[in-house]
Amino acid sequence: MPAETASAAPVVTRFAPSPTGFLHIGGARTALFNWLFARHHGGRFLLRIEDTDRARSTPEATEAIFEGLRWLGLDWDGEALSQFSRVARHAEVAHEMLARGAAYKCFATKEEIDAFREAAKGAGRPPLFLSPWRDADPATHPDAPYVIRLKAPREGQVTVEDKVQGTVTWAADQMDDLILLRSDGTPVYMLAVVVDDHDMGVTHIIRGDDHLTNAARQSLIYRAMGWEIPVFAHIPLIHGPDGAKLSKRHGALGVEAYRDMGYLPEAMRNYLARLGWSHGDDEFFSTEQAIEWFNLESIGRSPARFDFVKLENLNGQHIRAMEDDALMAELINYCAAQNIVIDAQRRAALRQALPGLKERARMLPQLLDLAYYILADRPLAPDPKAAALMDADACATLARLTPHLQNASDWTAGKLEEIVRSFAEGEGLKLGKVAQPLRAALTGRAVSPGVFDVMETLGKAESLARLGDAAPAPA
Ligand code: GLU
Repeated sequence: MPAETASAAPVVTRFAPSPTGFLHIGGARTALFNWLFARHHGGRFLLRIEDTDRARSTPEATEAIFEGLRWLGLDWDGEALSQFSRVARHAEVAHEMLARGAAYKCFATKEEIDAFREAAKGAGRPPLFLSPWRDADPATHPDAPYVIRLKAPREGQVTVEDKVQGTVTWAADQMDDLILLRSDGTPVYMLAVVVDDHDMGVTHIIRGDDHLTNAARQSLIYRAMGWEIPVFAHIPLIHGPDGAKLSKRHGALGVEAYRDMGYLPEAMRNYLARLGWSHGDDEFFSTEQAIEWFNLESIGRSPARFDFVKLENLNGQHIRAMEDDALMAELINYCAAQNIVIDAQRRAALRQALPGLKERARMLPQLLDLAYYILADRPLAPDPKAAALMDADACATLARLTPHLQNASDWTAGKLEEIVRSFAEGEGLKLGKVAQPLRAALTGRAVSPGVFDVMETLGKAESLARLGDAAPAPA
């Protein structure tokens, strides 16, 4: 733990997604900010699944959140908590508020509430329901179903101190007496969030600014219970490149789609961190740097725009910067998730070629395409540019070259280059006239790493077999 925070209360953050079937990219950013903040302070990052909507809260939907977080490398501390499992505790707190006089039983029926609202509308008053039971003597309570309502202040202001939004105030008369417990005894979401955050010891709540008004209502519950209000930081939502709120029409929303497209978790962490937070002009940084630099003060107030081009470029930078063994591990993970099988021999060749290949790829599938010559089965399927390089003349040239290669005394890039150069000279051809079709025949592509390196990687038998496929020896 950094020395300057050693004496302060340990930081506890949380990510509290509702299971929707996938980990939303905006949720991923929220999770990342909470994770970075906790890790920066040597604190704890907790996970709570807000699964009180039983219809949507399937085990699969919860698993999708775990999977998304795991892929992003956002490890949470301890077991994930199920909000639904804590229903009894939420109800208990509602009753405690009742006992403290901070809440009351309201017996108003739906019809009475509707009639109140109609009358208020007719008289030009705000339609907020003011319950006649708020100050009723319990002795007058009927034996009828009731809800428990919070006694919200009727006068003055409700203020939220927010690390991003500043001081935000609402007129108290804009807030109704929030229902805490429904007539069937089930707690409402707003209560559950506060009770859970309090019981989990959450010190900092970092979440989307669509929850800012909730924070005002939630702070009333904290106050009613005499609990310390956590630090709030409501971050602007992510927008699409056109400035509209991010939606499906802008592109993929689920984190797993980014995994399938071949983005690196490291690059996603970098990019998502920059969506709303900044560290000077730094665009490209490591996760360690993000942890070192992250603070709430540098979160911006205006919505960040999702820029797919920037993300792709950043991914390319991370591919290039990544240590080869780590990149290889990412590539293998990606292949496993996409059901791409690579045998041990090809893996070894791929690993060997990786330093050259990674210089030219922005995405993992691109990296695999560049490695086509390693991964492909014979006979290769040349792409159109490679096919164009192998016209009849070129194939005849390759057929004449083949015996020279068969006689190579050793199969190293240097030796092979020597052989091909002297063959080209003997034929009165420029080196490219031989090397280009040779590359096409061996790799099925018009671009590849150095053709002699490719031959060394493939080995003698495979190289000659591919040459034979492309340019059979004359009968
Ligand atoms: N479950 C809420 C959501 O998914 C988040 C609640 C919170 O962070 O307080 O939007």
